[in-house]
Formats: sequence, structure tokens, C-alpha cells
Amino acid sequence: MKKEDLKSLVTQVYEELLETINQQNAPDKDEVVSYLYNAAFTIEHIASQEIDSIEHAKLAFNNAYKKIADSSISSYKETNGKFAELTQLHQQTLKNYKDSLIDLPSITEKFDEIQSHMCTEVSRANSIISKLTNQIQELEKTTNLDPLTKVFNRRALTTYLENVCQKKELYHELHLLILDIDDFKSVNDTYGHVAGDKVLILIANTLKKVLRDGDKIFRYGGEEFIIILNRISTQTCKKIANRIIHIIDANQLIYKGNSLHVTASIGATKYISGDTPDNLIQRADSALYKAKRNGKNQLQTEEN
Ligand code: GH3
Ligand code: MG
Ligand code: MG
Repeated sequence: MKKEDLKSLVTQVYEELLETINQQNAPDKDEVVSYLYNAAFTIEHIASQEIDSIEHAKLAFNNAYKKIADSSISSYKETNGKFAELTQLHQQTLKNYKDSLIDLPSITEKFDEIQSHMCTEVSRANSIISKLTNQIQELEKTTNLDPLTKVFNRRALTTYLENVCQKKELYHELHLLILDIDDFKSVNDTYGHVAGDKVLILIANTLKKVLRDGDKIFRYGGEEFIIILNRISTQTCKKIANRIIHIIDANQLIYKGNSLHVTASIGATKYISGDTPDNLIQRADSALYKAKRNGKNQLQTEEN
């Protein structure tokens, strides 16, 4: 992870922690420690390839993590409450026996009962902690990444584009490409769904290899990917898109003795100030439609 990404993560944790404390009437030290513990755990388990920009570092934390932190804090509260009740019962028992004749068997029986409650509470808390830990790991895997192709999913795209479009002005060029595999239905029909899945993985891996670190790849739909190219001219964007089309066309996937060959079409457009995520995607989609109508296996662009 880059220095900037780390700084961004720490800032995010800090801001969320302050917000959490502000929302509590009587925040206590344990809650803060628990929050920081979970934050450290989350940072430790973010794979560095998932964090390739400050935006994505934030994505990894937003939404999903907050929910886990909240339920973790409330479960701590519940456990603390139960321990407080047991301590009270403990004191009550001592008080009741203080002035009367010492009845050792009854006292022992009462204390055994308290101890057994304590054990139940500890194991309940442990099971909640391990459930939450699994949830964090699961969310890290599922929140932003498409499980099949391991590129960012549509949810991540929405957040990313909302961030971009919220900015009053972008100080660099941004191009959005929609790539759609040509005649993909016939791959499934001829070779089966598993073969189709292998093709999707191959295309995603090809994109990862061709594109630079700052570029973003999202799985938009079944056999559609959206690519964001930052800080390049329209001319370079066209070169990259054509290179992708050429590499896919030149690739062969051997599956169960069959040689699978697919092509892809790309529609591209440039972000203009005032664009919403929807009309930015819509323009690229119109360009893609042109590419399909014009014979597929090609790039078309939609000028603004
Ligand atoms: P076109 O060239 O016009 O894009 O034709 P197409 O056949 O690629 O497009 P169409 O929209 O008719 O079919 C898309 C197919 O993609 C249909 C669906 O079964 C398949 N598909 C969508 N998601 C997946 C997936 O996750 N795995 C597999 N194997 N197939 C998928
Ligand atoms: Mg399609
Ligand atoms: Mg298609």
C-alpha cells in the first residue's frame, strides 16, 4: 500500500471514530479500544491490490465497515450490561449472607450458579466476536470485488462515479469505456456456462495486464466491463481501447480440448463537467451500440 493510501485510511478511521464517539451519550474506553482493534484488523486484511487509489481505500471502509463496527459496539454493550447484572447479584448474595449464620453449602451453591452464568456470558461474547470477525472477512471479500473475475463490482463503480461527478471540476481527463463481449451467449450455448465463466476470467485478467495501476476495471453486468482511464488524452484512450480489442481477438482459450476464441466491442466517451454517472455511462453505451451495429470487434466513441 502506498503512503498516501495509508494516510487516507488512518484519516478515515480517525474521522469515523470521532463520529462514533460523538454519537454516544456516554462513550467508554472499551468501545474506543474495540473500534480501534477492528479498524486495525480491517486494515491488516485489505489486500494491497484492492487499494489502488485513495478513493478505493475509502470505499473499503465506507458502508460495510461501519455496520460491523456498530454491531460490534452494541454487542460489547450488551455483554457489559450482563456482567454488571451478575456483579450486582454477586454483591446482593454477599449482603444477604453477611449477618445471618454462615451456611457454607448455600453460599457455594449460589457462587457456582454465578460462575456458570459468567462462563455462559464469556462463551456467548466469544462466539459473537468470532461471528463478527468472519463477517468482516466476508465483507472485505464481497463488498467491492466481483467474486468471479476479482475486478471491482458494480457497487464500487457507483461509489466511484458518484465521487467523480460530485467534484465541481476535474483537473485531468477521464475516459469511460464499456467493453461487451461479442456473441457471448453462443459461447455458453456451445461450450457451457463454465466455459463462459473461464472466458470472463480471461478477459478480466487481460484487462488487468494491459491497464496501468491508476486505471480502474469494474464488472458492470454479465459480460460487460467498465474501464476508467485517468490522465490520458482522447488519442491515447483510443490506442489503449484498440490494443485491448486486438489482444482479446488474438487470444485463444483452451477449454476441455476446445479452442475458444472471442472478440469484444468497446464504446468510449470522455467525462465532461456536469456529467452524472448515468449520462456518462449512457454516452459510452450509445457508442457501444454503434460498435455492435457496425460489425462488432471494434471501438466506437461518442463525442460530447
Ligand atoms: P452481443 O454481441 O450483442 O453482445 O451478443 P451477446 O450474446 O454477447 O449478448 P446477449 O446479451 O444476448 O447475451 C449475453 C450472455 O451473457 C447471456 C448470458 O447467459 C451470459 N452471461 C451473463 N453473465 C454470465 C456469467 O456470469 N457467466 C456466464 N458463463 N455467462 C454469463
Ligand atoms: Mg451485453
Ligand atoms: Mg455481449
